[in-house]
This record gives sequence, structure tokens and C-alpha cells, in this order.
Amino acid sequence: MADHGLPQISTGDLLREAVASGSELGQRAKAAMDAGELVSDELVLGIIRERVARADCGDGFILDGFPRNLAQAESLETVLAAISQPLDAAVLLDIEFDVLMKRLTGRRTCSVTGKLLNIHFSPQSEIDACLAAGGELVQRDDDNEETIGNRLKVYREQTEPLVEHYRSAGLLRVVDGAGEMDAIYQRLRDCLGLNTA
Ligand code: AMP
Repeated sequence: MADHGLPQISTGDLLREAVASGSELGQRAKAAMDAGELVSDELVLGIIRERVARADCGDGFILDGFPRNLAQAESLETVLAAISQPLDAAVLLDIEFDVLMKRLTGRRTCSVTGKLLNIHFSPQSEIDACLAAGGELVQRDDDNEETIGNRLKVYREQTEPLVEHYRSAGLLRVVDGAGEMDAIYQRLRDCLGLNTA
């Protein structure tokens, strides 16, 4: 739960947890994730359906990385209708291709603190603090150039059509994704009216 009080539900995080736990779901998802392909709609929808039915989602929630194609967007409407929680907004985090590549190829997590770092953008002091604490800079398995290339191709082919889908439904909000993480987070909160929490 983040400081705005709403659960953030990242299908990528939930899938990575499933892979790490070795569950059947994780085993079914792993090959697609390693290749940068989408995991099947059926698997991802099962995860979402189960997660949004939990009590902490009663006052709303933020979906991160879902839906990723039109079929998922249509199924989401059915899932939300069943729990009487209509979709308020769809956020497009707008970022230039070159910056996106550096964010993905440079992304690391400190193995001790869990802090998200970037070898291209983080201040050296933050990277040193991780190393001084005995941490290692861990790279996500799918943050290598080949898989990233495929993830971006999948984005263009399958996910980008959602921009028009949500624009025509009057739900699209565009947030400038350039700059520092804190500034982008603030813009996101402003755009969703989350500042009063
Ligand atoms: P992410 O952490 O959002 O970048 O997702 C990492 C990987 O998990 C993606 O490249 C996909 O293989 C898989 N994944 C995450 N969300 C979805 C989704 N909504 N539909 C299908 N696959 C997904």
C-alpha cells in the first residue's frame, strides 16, 4: 500500500512473485516473461480477478501494467462490473524512446534495501549506499536488451491501441514521464487527484 492509501496492483510484480515461488502459475508464466511476450490473458485475468476481490480493494485500487491488450481491457470491464467499481481513468505515462531504453537497461534493485536504482540516472551516493550496506545491484531477468526489444514491439502491437480505446471512452489521462522519479510520481498523484490522502 502506497502513501495515497490505495493498493497498487502490478501484474508484473504478481507474476514475478509467482515465478519466484515456483508455483504452477509461475511455471506457466515464466517462458513468456523471459521472452518479453505477454503471459496468456486467462492467467493474468485469473490473478486480477482474485486480487481485486480482496477487502483492501473496497475503496478502489490502481492497476499497473494491466490491461496490456484490447481483450484484457474488455474483460476488465466485466470484472469491474461484477464488483460495482467502474474505471475512473486510464493513465498513459508518456516517455521518449531513448530515455525509456536507458531506464530499462539501467534499472537495478538493491538486494539489501529493495531500493529501485538506475546505473545511468541514480546519484552515485545512492549506488554507493547500497554497496556500502553489503548490497548488490540486481537486474531483472527481462531487463536485457534482447527481451526489452521484444517487450517494446509487443507494446506497440498490442498495448498501444489501448491509448485510442481509452481516449475515445473519455478516460485517458496523459502524464509527462520525463524527469526525476519523485516529480513524475507527483504528477501522477495530481492527475488522479490523490493529493488529499
Ligand atoms: P512488467 O513488470 O509490467 O514490465 O511486466 C513484466 C512481464 O510480465 C511482461 O513482459 C509480461 O511477460 C508479463 N506481464 C505483466 N503484465 C501482463 C499483462 N497484463 N498481460 C500479460 N503479460 C503481462
